[in-house]
Amino acid sequence: MTQENLKTTFEQVFSFRLNHNQYNELERMTHEISQRDGISEAKLIDMLKSDQRIIDSTGKNKFSAIKQHLIKLRFPLTCQQQKINPKDVFLSELKNPLKDTTVCTKEFTPEKIFIEKSARDSYLANKFKNYFPDCPTEELNHTWEYIQKNKFSLKDLKKPLVFIVNEHWDFIKPCPCTKNHIGCNYWIFNLGFGCPFDCSYCYLQQYTNFPGTVLPANLDDFFNKFDNFYKKINRPIRIGTGEFCDSLALDHITGYSSQLIDFFRDKPVLFELKTKSDNIDNILKCKGSENIIISWSLNPQEIINDEECCVASLKQRLKAAQKVRDQEFSLSFHFDPVIHSPNWEILYKKTIDELYRQLKPPFKWISIGTLRGTRKLKNAAEQRFSQSNIWYGELLLGDDKKLRYPKFLRKDIYSNMVKWIREYDKHTPVYLCMEDEDCWEVMDKPLTSAKQVESYLIDK
Ligand code: SF4
Repeated sequence: MTQENLKTTFEQVFSFRLNHNQYNELERMTHEISQRDGISEAKLIDMLKSDQRIIDSTGKNKFSAIKQHLIKLRFPLTCQQQKINPKDVFLSELKNPLKDTTVCTKEFTPEKIFIEKSARDSYLANKFKNYFPDCPTEELNHTWEYIQKNKFSLKDLKKPLVFIVNEHWDFIKPCPCTKNHIGCNYWIFNLGFGCPFDCSYCYLQQYTNFPGTVLPANLDDFFNKFDNFYKKINRPIRIGTGEFCDSLALDHITGYSSQLIDFFRDKPVLFELKTKSDNIDNILKCKGSENIIISWSLNPQEIINDEECCVASLKQRLKAAQKVRDQEFSLSFHFDPVIHSPNWEILYKKTIDELYRQLKPPFKWISIGTLRGTRKLKNAAEQRFSQSNIWYGELLLGDDKKLRYPKFLRKDIYSNMVKWIREYDKHTPVYLCMEDEDCWEVMDKPLTSAKQVESYLIDK
């Protein structure tokens, strides 16, 4: 049904006029329910027509009654458990899917390599020039000047542009976690910005005017500063990459992994490289070490197929994990984001079975986190992945205005995931990412502070 037709149908069937905002809300809910559940808009209107409350209401109440009925259809599980405050339902204006979006390719090939003047003679600039001898290059004074001068938009997000820079900001910073949630005192190592993979839930989609991938050429500067940084901390800590890019996606070119492994091998820290790739050749050339953790994000293969583009399959990730373990590195796994669907239990139980069929526990740690994101992220992801239904799940706005599954659903997911993991593995610490005290209560080891979570993961 076209927009005009839908509006006219609502107005004719229910004999009232919709203002702009009211129509936007009804249109969005109708679209989300119909795409997710495969129900036509005409059928939805028929369902509304048989609601006596709507028939009996008049004036403004007519709109509220229709909205309430649609909220029930849009959030069927939550409505059975609790009353939904309409303010927690995020109903932005529906936008058309983006056309001519740059899509990522399995074999990453840059369209252009930009090199900041200060990184002109760096090993990284030379590596990229040698690896892609036919790719045009351009020198820049500073990447940000270039980005500001040239107009980019959301459809350029995955443009295969590479920016080789001398990083000036801090390489390492504490993970901010999220307001009123229990953190884990993790330190984020900033190994670039932008990712050659493309996941429908990736929060990098919020950065709508930044194309390509920025890679630092001056890891040595970080290495030189590390001792001073560590003197101030002076206790064992966990440091990890993979926050703003996949740690190994381009490792065959950057060679970051071997530099980092060599640097951290003898340091009193647990250093984690997170990936969805199986790009481990450089790692296999390094001497393993217990404090270096190679970690994989895991999702059921069905979700990988639909929501994670250009990444390694579940089987490839687990096979790569076995190889790095044979090399005596530690392993960890992240079920994050867990995506709820009517058959989520079958999918995730099967994935946990697969993990333990392939690999023997214990691991350094396993984290679990459910799908979450800002309103901006949902809007961007919806325009880029118009076939995806993940943002049409039971996601409501929380106190921090992020979209999350309601607590009863998150608790159900966490308790089941832990139960399935514990059937195989009694010893690996399992923790929650960005969760509150209530959700932690369902864990086999309920913890109440970042300090406790940190000790749980480090002391094991
Ligand atoms: S691998 Fe990570 S950083 Fe890359 S697109 Fe997926 S979620 Fe984003």
